[in-house]
Amino acid sequence: MGEWLSSTAYIEKRKEELKDKIDSLKKKYGRSPSLSVVLVGNNKASISYVKRKEKFAKEIGMKAETLRFDNINEKDLLSLVKKLNNDDGVDGFIIQLPLPEDIDVNKIIESISPAKDVDGFHPYNLGKLFRGEDALFPCTPFGIVNFLKFNKFELAGKNAVIIGRSNLVGKPLSILLLKENMTVTITHSKTRNLSQKCSNADFLFVAAGRPLMVTPEYVKQGAVVIDVGVNALTDSNIVKNELKTLPEKIKLFDKKGYVLVGDVHPEVVKKASYLTPVPKGIGPITVLTLIENTIKAFEKRAG
Ligand code: NAP
Repeated sequence: MGEWLSSTAYIEKRKEELKDKIDSLKKKYGRSPSLSVVLVGNNKASISYVKRKEKFAKEIGMKAETLRFDNINEKDLLSLVKKLNNDDGVDGFIIQLPLPEDIDVNKIIESISPAKDVDGFHPYNLGKLFRGEDALFPCTPFGIVNFLKFNKFELAGKNAVIIGRSNLVGKPLSILLLKENMTVTITHSKTRNLSQKCSNADFLFVAAGRPLMVTPEYVKQGAVVIDVGVNALTDSNIVKNELKTLPEKIKLFDKKGYVLVGDVHPEVVKKASYLTPVPKGIGPITVLTLIENTIKAFEKRAG
């Protein structure tokens, strides 16, 4: 593994910079940026993500609130979005996904004002991204690219392979990497000879939602591997076989009954020059980017 700044150290550094930024915005405009997060239902992972977003925002001096509903119908959620769109005290807001199945997610996303769409999922913002123009970009892929650029990885001309083509991660990531002049291959569940395609990558980005699927044969010696996947493993045989080189993970499993792993097998560390951890890798970078997007939305509205 190389000597690059870890995701944790990067976030701590950005946090200090953002605190100063918020202070100066408060002085200039008389208020700090404000983020609202709408949470529907009782999905455990969503509850934990939302808590982290609110905590991060407050730690750097931003205003943040979570609007929590055990249940809400589509009509009422659309009315709430309208209210948030028109609320001058709200600079950015997100509707935490997934939503209950009876709500049309695209309809909700399209009702969000693009100027306040700090998740970057609105078709207007995605269209701007596609055209190579500035906008609010989806947090996970934008955070990954910012992190790589911060660490001064040389990206131009390099081969990037992405596993996964979702609207949240894989597709927008491909456009952001193209903007950095990388040569991009997007792969998915129907891709043939996947491991061979991945083994050409100088930079391998994995967002498949398949625990530990990327094993060393997918990885070129010295490649940079970005693991986006977050999966809870609950099968003790799998945990004890696959994670035998990581006693601290097994200990955690024995204590909690599950352990979080990425889509990349820990053995990959032997070949990669850099591998992001799970947890404490791309997850917190996504939260950081949401906050950065909210500050950007605030500045655009303010000025
Ligand atoms: P998604 O919408 O389920 O998309 C998964 C993608 O992976 C699909 O394009 C799918 O292909 C592809 N795929 C699935 N199995 C595959 C296989 N065996 N071989 C090749 N491709 C395969 O998931 P997502 O929202 O992009 O999220 C992916 C993972 O990242 C999940 O674990 C999620 O929890 C995690 N995530 C983490 C963060 C974070 O902040 N760290 C943020 C977002 C997502 P098809 O299109 O052909 O079905």
